[in-house]
Formats: sequence, structure tokens, C-alpha cells
Amino acid sequence: MRVSLITLGCKVSQYDSAQLERMILGRGGEVVPPSPHSEAFLICGCAVTDKAVKEAKQVSRRLRRLNPRAPVILYGCIGELAHRSGEENAFPPRDKEGVLLKLGLKGKAEDALPSWHRTRGVVKVQDGCDRFCSFCIVPHLRGKSQSRKLEEVIKEVEELSRAGFKEVVLTGVHLSSYGKDLHESLDIFSLLEALEKIPGIERIRLSSMEPVDLDREKIIQLGRISKLCPHFHLPLQSGSDRILKSMNRGYTLYHYLSLVDACRSTWPDPAITTDIMVGFPGETEEDFQLTLKALETVGFARIHAFRYSPRPFTLAENFPDQVEDKVKKERMVRLRLLASKLSLAYQEKFLGKVLPVLLEELSSPNEGEGYTPNYIRVKVQSEEPLACNTIVPVRIYSITDICLGETI
Ligand code: SF4
Repeated sequence: MRVSLITLGCKVSQYDSAQLERMILGRGGEVVPPSPHSEAFLICGCAVTDKAVKEAKQVSRRLRRLNPRAPVILYGCIGELAHRSGEENAFPPRDKEGVLLKLGLKGKAEDALPSWHRTRGVVKVQDGCDRFCSFCIVPHLRGKSQSRKLEEVIKEVEELSRAGFKEVVLTGVHLSSYGKDLHESLDIFSLLEALEKIPGIERIRLSSMEPVDLDREKIIQLGRISKLCPHFHLPLQSGSDRILKSMNRGYTLYHYLSLVDACRSTWPDPAITTDIMVGFPGETEEDFQLTLKALETVGFARIHAFRYSPRPFTLAENFPDQVEDKVKKERMVRLRLLASKLSLAYQEKFLGKVLPVLLEELSSPNEGEGYTPNYIRVKVQSEEPLACNTIVPVRIYSITDICLGETI
């Protein structure tokens, strides 16, 4: 069976897709680029926003035109959403076996190590969420929070280390709630303490942490993990306490700023990145001004901005005072301008500084690209030949849309 795999969405979706790829190959299937010769198309897709669902539908239509006889199978969050509206070839996140049987690939159900075609290994340690932020469809599609057993995660990271990976990215739908459903003494910190002992792994990166799960003490605890990358994605969503309350986020701006402060007193210039939602129901110009002010106060290294879109099954879908699309669009413009200004300001702090870069790809024997621990992408030039998957000290000498560095 020649299967074409299309991955849309977050790191959790990327992980599930990479795992499905390994399972398809393990059962004698082939994974091929989409073409008229593909015998099936498998979309691992996202449903977190209206835009994400539209994208998955556009991709489905394109694939159907490519080979009308090949089934288009939906899996993951988009699979669950389509499954609920009665679509046939649609499978929820926890039904990988159903996908494989639909592809006619019978065999022993196993949890395969994902196939990674990259330098950083992503490890999903948790799935689902119990928080129910009022705008979020994810808990409705992925169910309750479920953590993977500690020994299972350790085994997977050991295998990644044996396979030569130097950096692992821990991910989950609600990563910072890791362990709560397993055992009271198990949490993201005990997981990190265990993983940092694994030889060969030089960097551990956290994909995202929910501010509601953190406080100053926990940030200081994170500071004891020497291999932890000083890059913290802390979704703020809004700078207005009134809106945060209506979103059921469980924290205030004051609390959020105390976390940022704790990060900055634990690591020199850590990268704080975030998600901001524009146009949540009831958001006034004053609320939006509070958000812009909060962004300036923090000085984020990166901001992912989203326009609020009403999602099925969520509380906010029926909230009054839905914000007009043209107002959302106009606010997104202002927010993005500020976001790129702040991102540039953050990178400028490292001009002339030497940072270690994990080389991910080479464009020539003496030119490559990769990330620093604080998540700055750097284009590296070197007199000596470079090698992928090596960490090289680089002096940052210029900032364009991408940082330029030369080995020293
Ligand atoms: S924490 Fe909130 S935003 Fe994140 S997955 Fe859970 S419900 Fe959604």
C-alpha cells in the first residue's frame, strides 16, 4: 500500500504522524510523496481554529483531484471532528489501529518509535487536557489528560540518543500537567531530572508550559536542569485580566509577569515566547491596549498571534459580544507589527555574542543552519567543513530576517 502522509498542526500532531509513518512501514506499507500513484492519502490534521479546518479541507480537495480513486483519511483532531459529523474515513487521535486497518495494513498493534527526518527528536509525553479554557476545542477532541509512563519516555529518549539525536523536544497537549494523572510524586520536573541523566542528549527543550501550572519556585526548580534550553513558550493569550477570566485561563497578568521575572532571574536572557488570541468575545479596544502593553512589558522573543474563531462544543462559542472580523484583522496587523519589533529587539541582544548552534541542515560543506538553545535560527558560515547534528560555537555578527554567524 503506497500511502501519502500529510501532517498539519502542532508538535503533538507531528509526533502522531511520525509514529504512524513508522507503523505503516512496520506493516509492509510504503510512505510516498503525494502523486497520482498514491493508493491512499492520510491527513494528520488540526482543528484548533476555523482556519486550520479550512486548510485541511483544501488539502483534501487537492488530494482528491490528484487521484480520485484513492481514499482521503483524516486522523487526529480533524479526524475526531469529522468522525463526529459522521464522516466515514475519519479517525480520532487514539485510534491509530483503525487507520492502519483502513489502509489494509494488518499486524500486531505496537507503539512504534516515530520516524524523524530531522535533527531534533520530538517526544510526546502527554495527551489530552482537563482545563477547558472557554475558547479551546482540544479537550473536547482529545479527551482527558493522559501521561505516558516515565520508564516508557526514558526508553524512547535513550533510543533517540542511541540514534544520535543531541536535542529532544518534549511535547504534549498540556505538557506542564505531566504526571498528575499517574502518581502524585510524578511531574514534569521529575521527568526532566530523569531525562537529563541520559548520556548523549545535550539539550532538552520544552514545547510549551501553561502559566497556570507554574510559579516562582517551579521556575527555580527548572533552573536546576542543566540541559534545559532557556526557551519558554508560555501562552499568555491576553493582557486583560477581565478577558483571561472569561477565557478560564486560571491566572492573572500579575502572576504571568512574576513567572517571566523568575525566568529572567534564573537564566541570562531566556527566550520567552507566547500565543496571543485577538478578538476573544467581549474584547474591547481597552482590553487590546492592555495586551499590547503586556507584550511590550515582557519583550517577547516570538509571538504567535491567532484570530479568535468560535469552536464547536466550547463555552465561548455562545458568548455575547462576538468581535467583528474586520476589527480582529485590524488588531492582528497592529499586534504583528509589535511582535516583529520585539523579536528583532530580542535578537539584537546577541549581536557580537558567541552562541552554540545545533546544525540541522547544510547548504554547502561550509554553510549550515540551526538553532541556539534560546531558539534563535542562525545561518552559519565556516572556514572548516561543517557537519550536521553537531553543536558549533558561533559569533552572531548580523541580524537579517535570519541571524548570520561564523564559527570561531
Ligand atoms: S490548557 Fe487550555 S488552551 Fe491548552 S489545550 Fe488545555 S484547554 Fe486548550
